[in-house]
Amino acid sequence: MPTIPVGILGATGMVGQQFVALLANHPWFRVTWLGASQRSEGKPYREAAAWRLPAALSDAIGRLTVDNASPGRAPQLVFSALDSSVAGDIEASFAQAGHFVVSNSRNYRMEPTVPLLIPEINADHLTLLDAQGAGLGWKGRIVTNPNCSTVVLSMALAPLRPFGLKTVMITTLQAVSGAGYPGVPSWDILGNVIPFIDGEEEKIETETKKILGCVNGGRVDPHPVTVSASTTRVPVHNGHTESIGVGFERPPSVEAMIEAFTAFTGKPQTLELPSAPIPPIVYANERNRPQPALDVDRGRGMTVTIGRLRRCPVLDYKFIALGHNTIRGAAGAAILNAELMHVEGLV
Ligand code: NAP
Repeated sequence: MPTIPVGILGATGMVGQQFVALLANHPWFRVTWLGASQRSEGKPYREAAAWRLPAALSDAIGRLTVDNASPGRAPQLVFSALDSSVAGDIEASFAQAGHFVVSNSRNYRMEPTVPLLIPEINADHLTLLDAQGAGLGWKGRIVTNPNCSTVVLSMALAPLRPFGLKTVMITTLQAVSGAGYPGVPSWDILGNVIPFIDGEEEKIETETKKILGCVNGGRVDPHPVTVSASTTRVPVHNGHTESIGVGFERPPSVEAMIEAFTAFTGKPQTLELPSAPIPPIVYANERNRPQPALDVDRGRGMTVTIGRLRRCPVLDYKFIALGHNTIRGAAGAAILNAELMHVEGLV
């Protein structure tokens, strides 16, 4: 039986619902508290959330009354899927009150003592938490996961670090679920491509360097790779597809790159964490893959699929990567972070 009580801030939104679905049968974590805005406060979750996922909502969670998003009644471990316009103040108030907040929001990702965690890549960044309490004056802590496109890119780049990553050009084709609910109006997105997502390119260009960087004296020295990003929204339900070009200091062979992708593994796999995908990266050999319609749910939405690796006449190589934006890129990523924190004795 799961024994660790957890709460979800922003439980009614796109990512909040994904948390509820993924935690439904979790072996360690049990959802006991749900928080959202005044629009939802006091309503049974089933009524406040307007459930939008294919997985059935359990009666036990559906009946829980949604609380306001302030500390007091929530358990120590709280996942956050709050809108970023309010996440800054609310998450800080929870951390000040002694909660461990495992957040999806952008607000604290680049704060020097806040881990921007992908456990397969930088599990050691949790050591930043030692300096966080003193630096920010919190009894609790905040740990973040990256932007949904950045997770997919970083997973694809991490295995390539030994070849001397120098330059990266990325163009994304991002799903509608990435914009939350109700998100982009149907008139704007149906039969269309929107070549602008506010703030997304900057997040990809900066977060990737922190994730791939090294902890040094209580902060992260960013990885020297230069990243240039263009982002687009496309009429796809779930799954961010990314066209990625890479330049290296020591360009490897095609075979060495595919071997690096397929052999890649990390602490979640070694520790057999419940949400760890095995393997974390799949290389698809078919020439027309990955596709969101066919590959997005691989590894219960936690596996990143890569394909179409080929030489690039501008940089050294180019390929396509795909990941589930609300699972690997959001709720599933945060749950994996919390599982690692539990095993490391932090929660
Ligand atoms: P969303 O569907 O718009 O949900 C936002 C949530 O925030 C709702 O639960 C909403 O509650 C709550 N909220 C809004 N204003 C509030 C307030 N004043 N006080 C308390 N709660 C408030 O957004 P989302 O797509 O789930 O994204 C949630 C967060 O995750 C965002 O920071 C987003 O950038 C990040 N993220 C999203 C994705 C993705 O693929 N969607 C991926 C990675 C990260 P009500 O229902 O009561 O209004």
